[in-house]
Amino acid sequence: MGRYVYDFTQGGRDMAGLLGSKGANLAEMTRLGLPVPPGFTVTTEACRAYLDTGGEPAGLWREISAHLTAVETAAGRLLGQPDDPLLLSVRSGARFSMPGMMETILDIGLNDESVLGLAKVSGNDRFAWDSYRRLLQMFGSTVMGVDSAHFERALTDLKDARGVPDDVHLTADDLAGLVATFQELIRQETGEYFPQAPAEQLRRAVLAVFESWNGERARLYRRREHIADDLGTAVNVQRMVFGNLGPDSGSGVAFTRDPATGRPGLYGDYLPDAQGEDVVAGIRNTVPLTELERLDPRSHTRLRAHMETLERHYRDLCDIEFTIERGTLWMLQTRVGKRTAEAAFAIAAELADEGLITPDETLARVGGEQLARLMFPRFDTSRTGDPLAHGLPASPGAAVGAAVFDSAEAARRASAGEKVVLVRQETTPDDLPGMIAAQAVLTSRGGKTSHAAVVARGMGKVCVCGAEELSVDIEARRFTTPDGTVVEEGTVVSVDGSTGLVYAGSVPLTDSAVIRFLENGSTDEDATGLVDAVARVLARADTVRRLEVRANADTPEDAARARRFGAQGIGLCRTEHMFLGERRKLVEAMILARDEAERAEALGALLPLQRQDFTGILEAMDGLPVTIRLIDPPLHEFLPDRTDLAVRMATAEARGALPDPRDTELLDAVNRMHEENPMLGLRGVRLGLVVPGLVAMQVRAIAEAVVRRTKAGGSPRAEIMVPLVGAVEELRIEREEVERVLAEVSQESGIAVHCPVGTMIELPRAALTAGRIAQEAEFFSFGTNDLTQTTWGFSRDDVEAAFFSAYLDKGIFTTSPFETLDRDGVGRLVRIAVDEGRAARPDLKIGVCGEHGGDPDSVHFFHTAGLDYVSCSPFRVPVARLEAGRAAL
Ligand code: PEP
Ligand code: MG
Repeated sequence: MGRYVYDFTQGGRDMAGLLGSKGANLAEMTRLGLPVPPGFTVTTEACRAYLDTGGEPAGLWREISAHLTAVETAAGRLLGQPDDPLLLSVRSGARFSMPGMMETILDIGLNDESVLGLAKVSGNDRFAWDSYRRLLQMFGSTVMGVDSAHFERALTDLKDARGVPDDVHLTADDLAGLVATFQELIRQETGEYFPQAPAEQLRRAVLAVFESWNGERARLYRRREHIADDLGTAVNVQRMVFGNLGPDSGSGVAFTRDPATGRPGLYGDYLPDAQGEDVVAGIRNTVPLTELERLDPRSHTRLRAHMETLERHYRDLCDIEFTIERGTLWMLQTRVGKRTAEAAFAIAAELADEGLITPDETLARVGGEQLARLMFPRFDTSRTGDPLAHGLPASPGAAVGAAVFDSAEAARRASAGEKVVLVRQETTPDDLPGMIAAQAVLTSRGGKTSHAAVVARGMGKVCVCGAEELSVDIEARRFTTPDGTVVEEGTVVSVDGSTGLVYAGSVPLTDSAVIRFLENGSTDEDATGLVDAVARVLARADTVRRLEVRANADTPEDAARARRFGAQGIGLCRTEHMFLGERRKLVEAMILARDEAERAEALGALLPLQRQDFTGILEAMDGLPVTIRLIDPPLHEFLPDRTDLAVRMATAEARGALPDPRDTELLDAVNRMHEENPMLGLRGVRLGLVVPGLVAMQVRAIAEAVVRRTKAGGSPRAEIMVPLVGAVEELRIEREEVERVLAEVSQESGIAVHCPVGTMIELPRAALTAGRIAQEAEFFSFGTNDLTQTTWGFSRDDVEAAFFSAYLDKGIFTTSPFETLDRDGVGRLVRIAVDEGRAARPDLKIGVCGEHGGDPDSVHFFHTAGLDYVSCSPFRVPVARLEAGRAAL
């Protein structure tokens, strides 16, 4: 049997697991000598024992009684003592804050007798009866299970009968009457009298707080906040102090710095003649803390001093709750306070300047998601109306523009200077020009790794996807919301990619100073502090991190931007993105080629274009590694849609026209290539192995770009990566082809072209046979998008919208495995591949280029798994740098 109860003088802040965060911090304040009303904490262990067995743990009450006696002795009076009662508060307090989710019972110790004593010693009848009715209300609902609405109704009835608007206008007699009503209510509802014995009140209140851990509200909250269900709550029992004893009393909350901006200086609200609960409930208007300086200068000075003590002690922003009882200040709670992203960076830098924390600790005080939030323009959230639609927040930021329904229209309007939002059911590579032209992309289908989402994130473009409640009618050029609102083309909408919400009209935007700084080193005057803080934190992260950070980029512009953001190379250049737009016709010609000569011609036309792309990228990344992946998606993606084609031909036929012979040819090809599961079909290395000349063309373009850059005096460092390998034999054959072409170009040009050849690991079989694959690969790059898809058997394009929300609700996983790497499953495959790959080839370079490369939690995993680098979209590069630094602490 453990020890279940700790006096506030016996605990400390490092005991939050056992005492809950509130209890640990009350103990810490007590030890610091701050004025904390005496009390004790019943441990989370006691709660767990109670919940496990359904009964009061043996010996618990004996321990509580002993601690109660100590509190009574210190106070010089007994709990519920008839002539001068000691009263107690009983509050929940788990390890992680769960505001308002569990129960609190105040004024324990009042009964029909002691209420009279309290009235007498306080000289305030109204206060005594009001306290008693509060106890009945809280105890009745929380401990005895009476529906709280009954109490509310009785209170409202009384106010109506008296013709007064709120509680403060009820007299002592009114409240005494209400006490009788409440007692009768409890008896009727439960068949039991409200317990008059103070000890019984206390005992039952403690157990009721234990019970509230498993209340519906609390359980839901934990699920949303990813708090484990088996932690249990502690219970804090503390002498009551009263802020509602008249004008020389009051309650307030305060922060040691402004939690919105991080600016130093006390910040908070105060409510004279009120209990703490009244401040939080917002029943009456509070006054700013500066007002307290006028009302009660002595308490104000003491409060300042205590808060300074706390901030120096915790070495962080603290928030507190306090009560002033007839001119005496009491500290009721403290904790390290929540803050905005901006404040987090500002505070970390300032505390480092003040010498309170080390540069490494600044890294621990901020997070990648906070940095990401600072990089995107934001909506002024105080100025949004009701949303038109909810979708998945796929790529954060805020954008405003006229809704348009196809790529061409988006491009046309944008080139005329109009801001547009591209709305589609889903996007395909065809929509790329429109996506580039648009401020934001909104789709009604697809998950967070759908085309729209991945591409938008890559471009740092706002995206909300999978807004399934919208019915998008491309033909009619409009969408309709569930309540029947019709949004026609040209109507302005606002898209919040951080929340997934879409609004009608133009919600005002706030710009990101951080992005301007990262882009070109410029600093807005009003953001020097913030920008400086971000720069310093990132510099520290770069010093300590072991992981390199590369970017996924397919254009010279993206490569250059990634480099400005601190990328140390390109970890994934998706070459298929270079086959879009105008070039599609050439790809189409290659697919439709009837013989070798036609195919060679089509490939010959593609070659100079690819070479030009690679030259530009190698130039932008001069001196740094550029991993170029050979073509990956199934070729039919470059052909027109089967249904579109069939419709086009049928319409022609209906008009009596002969179908265009080219359409017939195309439809044949499309039918020939149709696959039920293209993601599991002819793609990746399989394409290279069955389509003659394709790989040779790509490798030649790469090699010739290397030659050009070398001749121009550059230091090109191209690496060639083979996608979707499952067996070493695939890689061996492909590699021979790659090396043949490299040798050819070396000979023709007189410049020796060396490109390391490696593979993506994105199939479970590749991970499980990594030892063999490593014999043919100089590097591995985990394609965790496909590896997640194939490990779970989830289609990355459909699954999130289809059933992920149900899975999240049921707690099957707490975040999408496409967002945060599934350590147990996919992560295990990663570890196997790292171990076996390195065993076979000790100098094997290993990275990751799936979306997880820019996800904070996943970056920490890749650090511990021993990877050499992570690669992510350019806009995630600073986030990954920061998290790689944090992972190394
Ligand atoms: C992956 O599968 O993780 C990957 C990076 O490749 P793609 O997303 O292009 O399939
Ligand atoms: Mg892949």
